[in-house]
Amino acid sequence: MRNLVILGGGTAGTMIANKLHKQLTHEGWHITVVDRDDAHHYQPGYLFLPFGGYTAEEIVRSRHRFISDGVDLVYGEIDRVSAEESVVHLQDGRTLAYDYLVIATGTTPRPDQTPGMLGPEWHRSIFDFYTLDGARALARALDSFDHGRLVVQICEMPIKCPVAPLEFTFLVEAWLREHGIRDQVELAYVTPLDGAFTKPVASAHLGSMLDERKIEVVTDFMVESIDQDRKVLVSYDEREVPFDLLVTVPVNMGADFVARSGLGDELNYVPVDKHTLLSTAYDTIFAVGDASNIPASKAGSVAHFAVEVFVGNFLEHVAGLPMTGSFDGHANCFVESGDGKALLIDFNYETEPLPGKYPIPGVGPLSLLKETHTNHLGKLAFRHVYWNVLLPGHPVPLPAHMSMAGKFVLDRGHPEGGTTP
Ligand SMILES: Cc1cc2nc3c(=O)[nH]c(=O)nc-3n(C[C@H](O)[C@H](O)[C@H](O)COP(=O)(O)OP(=O)(O)OC[C@H]3O[C@@H](n4cnc5c(N)ncnc54)[C@H](O)[C@@H]3O)c2cc1C
Repeated sequence: MRNLVILGGGTAGTMIANKLHKQLTHEGWHITVVDRDDAHHYQPGYLFLPFGGYTAEEIVRSRHRFISDGVDLVYGEIDRVSAEESVVHLQDGRTLAYDYLVIATGTTPRPDQTPGMLGPEWHRSIFDFYTLDGARALARALDSFDHGRLVVQICEMPIKCPVAPLEFTFLVEAWLREHGIRDQVELAYVTPLDGAFTKPVASAHLGSMLDERKIEVVTDFMVESIDQDRKVLVSYDEREVPFDLLVTVPVNMGADFVARSGLGDELNYVPVDKHTLLSTAYDTIFAVGDASNIPASKAGSVAHFAVEVFVGNFLEHVAGLPMTGSFDGHANCFVESGDGKALLIDFNYETEPLPGKYPIPGVGPLSLLKETHTNHLGKLAFRHVYWNVLLPGHPVPLPAHMSMAGKFVLDRGHPEGGTTP
């Protein structure tokens, strides 16, 4: 009997457990998933909570309901991994021996990493929406906010769902208009990047959407501290951005036990081969989802596409065969833009988001890098797909690898910025 231990029963860990349970022989393998509690959060739902879009009950479900019978689910806080002994230690003293380990413990917002973020103003005038509590507190604050300066700010990259702060900005702008108070509110978007997004074509497109909405964009802003008394963000190069209401995305970091186990980089992400997801240090350890250091977006879609490739690779690896699957960093993310519309972006390690149609080339029904109502409906429908198709590990009719079919390559030399298929 061989033991597979999966650390983290979130998006990636749940899919992996369910898919491998179907593929590995039950006589030969024992699969265990470890997570700290029984609450599985649909994190994309946090975005809509501040605007009354979802209730907490709609985005939190019992974790065990999504893990196949026959897979052990152990509740406990992971303390460390002794990779040399192939043992996981839980904080309560329990140990789990493994033959193969998958680290899928994601990434967590860490407000403690920025001086001055936590303090009396936390959840009074300074909020995050990357946690359930933060999103709920922000909902209450927006209810009574009717004038002043609202700043959306990212502390440091990488963050999970790198488009979420932009989506929040577009949604809050639309929400202020709906409530007839847009004129009383100054909006600013503060980012450590040199533009609205990491990739040039999408960055230009999303940047012009911020301009059209008269949202001030402050770039290259590396926050050093927050002065709660004066309500200003202070950067390392001594610039200051004042706020009345701050919506921050704190530094995101991998789990602390990864650092304690000597398995992480400086942000506690596990170094892996970006194509196979096998640890660069141990050939019995994989890291999948946000927990790894692959240079792709930290997103549920990436976790999903990576799991598709990982499962085949894992089966080959444990059979002593070379791994033939190669993950390409495929990501696709809806970007809510307010007024019942959204964009969709689809990209990978090599190819930046481009305009076009998805998933059926030339047909869609979804449009790439373009605001449409259909994209917005796609984003809303995704919650159902997540609970009922993705987590149980059912096949999704989308290829794991990014395709160029249906995309247009921007012809930068063209005077009207034309496109060529
Ligand atoms: C506001 C917001 C909006 C988002 N929108 C989108 C979107 O539109 N599209 C998209 O694709 N993605 C989106 N995401 C990102 C997506 O939710 C994550 O990328 C995805 O959940 C990553 O899956 P994961 O399995 O790697 O980590 P997670 O799903 O976060 O799971 C990690 C698990 O590990 C457990 N864990 C961690 N440390 C320990 C420990 N020490 N002991 C025990 N258990 C531990 C946690 O409890 C958790 O259950 C969004 C995220 C946020 C915050």
